[in-house]
Parts: sequence; structure tokens; C-alpha cells
Amino acid sequence: MLHIIGGGLAGCEAAWQAASLGVRVVLHEMRPVRATAVHKTDQLAELVCSNSLRGDKLDNAVGLLKEEMRRLGSLVMRAADAHRVPAGAALAVDRELFSRAITDAVQTHPLIDVTREEVARIPDDPGMYPLIIATGPLTSDTLSADVARIVGGEHLYFYDAISPIVLAETIDMSKVFRASRWGRSLRDPESPIPDPDEGDYLNCPFTKEEYGLFYEAVVTAESATVHDFDKEKFFEGCLPIEVMAHRGRDTLRFGPMKPVGLIDPRTGRIPYAAVQLRQDTLAGDHFSLVGFQTQLKWGEQARVLKLVPGLEHAEFVRFGMVHRNTYINGPTVLRETWQTRFRDDLFFAGQISGVEGYVESAASGLIAGRNAAALVRGEEPRVPPRTTAIGALAYYVSHADPRNYQPTNITFGIMEPPPVNDTGLRAQGKTKPGFSSRANRKLATSERALEDLDRWNSSAAFSTTSA
Ligand SMILES: Cc1cc2nc3c(=O)[nH]c(=O)nc-3n(C[C@H](O)[C@H](O)[C@H](O)COP(=O)(O)OP(=O)(O)OC[C@H]3O[C@@H](n4cnc5c(N)ncnc54)[C@H](O)[C@@H]3O)c2cc1C
Repeated sequence: MLHIIGGGLAGCEAAWQAASLGVRVVLHEMRPVRATAVHKTDQLAELVCSNSLRGDKLDNAVGLLKEEMRRLGSLVMRAADAHRVPAGAALAVDRELFSRAITDAVQTHPLIDVTREEVARIPDDPGMYPLIIATGPLTSDTLSADVARIVGGEHLYFYDAISPIVLAETIDMSKVFRASRWGRSLRDPESPIPDPDEGDYLNCPFTKEEYGLFYEAVVTAESATVHDFDKEKFFEGCLPIEVMAHRGRDTLRFGPMKPVGLIDPRTGRIPYAAVQLRQDTLAGDHFSLVGFQTQLKWGEQARVLKLVPGLEHAEFVRFGMVHRNTYINGPTVLRETWQTRFRDDLFFAGQISGVEGYVESAASGLIAGRNAAALVRGEEPRVPPRTTAIGALAYYVSHADPRNYQPTNITFGIMEPPPVNDTGLRAQGKTKPGFSSRANRKLATSERALEDLDRWNSSAAFSTTSA
């Protein structure tokens, strides 16, 4: 028997997968007995905000992830496809029909029991294991405290302060310069020895006039709607840039935009202010703006951030946000199988495991559910290849740098592109006329991912039974 705490996207998908493997499941969901600050219904798998599951094409990483999930028998994708509403290239759903379809499928499954109760502590009873904790970004307070106890308080976060991320190839490299502050490498920030390389950061230098224009744009820009739970005080360490700017004209210049220790090689001087960009993906194709968490509306961010020298034509792959989000430091706590490093029969899945987004949450539940079911069946947990989106997500969550860990959406940036010179798809010339080379590279990555996924799935030690 498998127990799952949390009947959201991850918990429902995990329950469905395990039950499809013939494993009995008890799903513990606290609503409606106890509410969260955001959920509005008692339905399972409620979409708390947008009704969009984002892009649905294979030139888009989340489109690939969705296709992989369909091939793995995902309940969330089955409900989404059945209840889609027109949304161009995106997959948006009728939120009520979507949640109801999942609720019905889970509640009527002969192997799944749903109990409506808050699980306030991580159970001691060995009969509750294997256990998947999938209680989401709004995990109840008592359970959060207990999670902190077992993972270590420093590895559980309650807020997500997300900085915008920019596509590297759209940065104007003629305006920015590569350097670490004081010439020290990020690899050893304490080292007094200057970095032998050119430095870990890309720096966008401002003149006094450029800073003035930027400052005015920030203080006059419109902020996104503040949810109730966002009214809590921000930590001083992750103040949104607009909150800092409103404290005074120079606050940003003494905060995330401080230029000290940075010499612009074009002028030989310290700039008036600087925005630092830090590499965000192993492939180096995404950079995040350091310390630039913000609640400005996304349209406003697009406008304001184009005033940063070097980002005039930048394409943003993610905009900044600050919101309540309970999540563990995945790389410290988890293995690629979504099992914890310290206990084989304890899993985390969904947003609390350190992924970001509806689809990613469900995808993590899909693999956690299969692997927890494998334990019940006396089988080994398995991990999809890293060349797949679902495998790359598991790898990122368990292997990213724990020092700056931030939950992530799936992007091609965390997947390995197929090599140019092997028998990979690009070399076979499977390019689509009319597409840019970047788009073709993405399509090739997707084609390889789906082939590898099918191979992995057909070699599974177990096969799913439909219910
Ligand atoms: C305000 C907000 C807006 C978001 N908007 C989007 C968006 O637009 N698009 C997007 O892709 N992602 C969004 N996300 C991020 C994320 O994708 C969603 O939160 C998603 O629902 C996460 O899925 P999950 O299964 O991990 O958690 P949830 O779907 O939240 O499910 C967790 C479940 O666990 C239950 N639970 C909590 N504690 C306990 C307990 N102690 N015992 C029993 N049950 C418990 C909760 O009631 C809930 O039903 C948003 C997050 C937040 C907080």
C-alpha cells in the first residue's frame, strides 16, 4: 500500500500511476476540512491561478514534457486534452471540468481511497510507507514545520523570489563585460586570488543618466495584483527591486546594482551602477538577473528591463516573481528518482520538491508514483533518460547547484542538445524549412527525447494496466 499526502496535480498523478500498476493507494487531501489561502474548491487537482498549461508544440520544452507525459499514460494530460479550450499554440483548459475529471477518475478508481484530512506530521507509523509528500507550495504550517525538521530547516524555503531570466543569445555583448566582483571567481567567492578566467558574471554597466532613466521607469511601473498571502512581510534579503527603489533613488545602487569591485574594461572605471547576469543553465544559454526579484507586471518588466544596457533587445524566458512557495532544496534532499537521499521509501513530488509549474508538478508526481509503486512491488525505481524532458527535470532537481537553488520550469536550457557531429537528428538533416536553426535544434532535441522515452518505457520492468 502506498500513501500520498496532497491531492493536487502531483499527488493525483502519482496516485493514478501507482494504481495503474496495480498498487493500492491512500490519498490524503486536507481540503475542504482545512483550506489554503488560494484554493477555492474542494476538487482535487485544482488549478490555483491561470488555466493555461502553457505551450503544446514540440519546439517548446513544456510542449515536449506534455507529449512525454501522454506517452506515459498521464491522467493530468488525459483530463487536459479532454477539456481544452481555444488558446492558440498553448494548451489551456476549462478549469472546472479539468479538476472534476481528475477528481472523478481518482475517486472512482477501485485501488485508490481518498481521505479528507490534514496530515499534520510526517508519519512515524511504518505502515504509512512508502510515502509521497506532494502538498504543494501552500503546504499546511504544521506539516511544513515537520518537513523542516526532517530535511533540515535551512533546506526548506517559504518564499520564491524569482529573478527574470534572459536568453543569452539576445544579450548585446558589445555593451556588457564579463567579470566577477573584485576579480574573484564564483567557484570560490572567498578566495583573494583573482579569477584566472575572465569572471563568472556578465555585467551591464550604467552611466548616471542611464541609471536615472531606469530608476524613474521602475518607480512608475505597475505592480502585479498582490495575493492575500503576499501581503506578509518580505524578507529583507529578497525585497523586490521596486520596493527597494521606492525607498530612495540610490537604494538599488547600494543593493543589487552596486558597481563596486567591477571595472568596465572599455572605460577603465567603475560604472555608476551595474546589473549582474549569472549563468543559469549548464549549457550557458540562459542568464538570470542577480537580485532582481520583482512583482512588476510582466509587460512592465519587459519594458523596464530593456532600459538595462545590453538588454535592449533581450528575450526573456521567464519574468521575475515573489510569491509564497514552500519548497525543499531539491539537490540537497532528493535523488533523481524523487526519493529522499536519506530514506528510500520517502518521496517528494510537485512544487514542494523544487519544480515550478502545473505540468512540471504533475510530471514529478508521475515518476514518483511509478517509483513508489515499484518499491511496493519489490522492484527497483527507474529514472527516464536525461535526454528526455521528464528525465532532465529530475536531474536538475537532484543535481543543480544547491547554493543558489531555484525551482525551475522545464526549458531546453536544462536539457542536453543532440550533438552536431554524431548520428543525432541535426546531422541527419531533419530540419524544417522556414524554421530558424534555434527552432530546428529544439525540434531535434524533442525528436530524440521522444525516441529515447519510448525505448525507456518499453523496456520497463513492469507494464501498466489500464483502469
Ligand atoms: C498563487 C499561485 C499561483 C500559481 N500559478 C501558477 C500558474 O498560473 N501556472 C503554473 O504552471 N503554476 C502556477 N503555480 C505553481 C504550481 O504549478 C501550482 O501551485 C501547482 O498547483 C503545484 O502542484 P502541486 O501538486 O505540487 O500542489 P497543489 O496543486 O497545491 O496540491 C497540493 C495539495 O496538498 C494539499 N495539502 C497541503 N498541505 C496538506 C496537508 N498537511 N495534509 C493534506 N493535504 C495537504 C492542498 O490542499 C493541495 O490540494 C502557482 C502557485 C501559486 C502558489
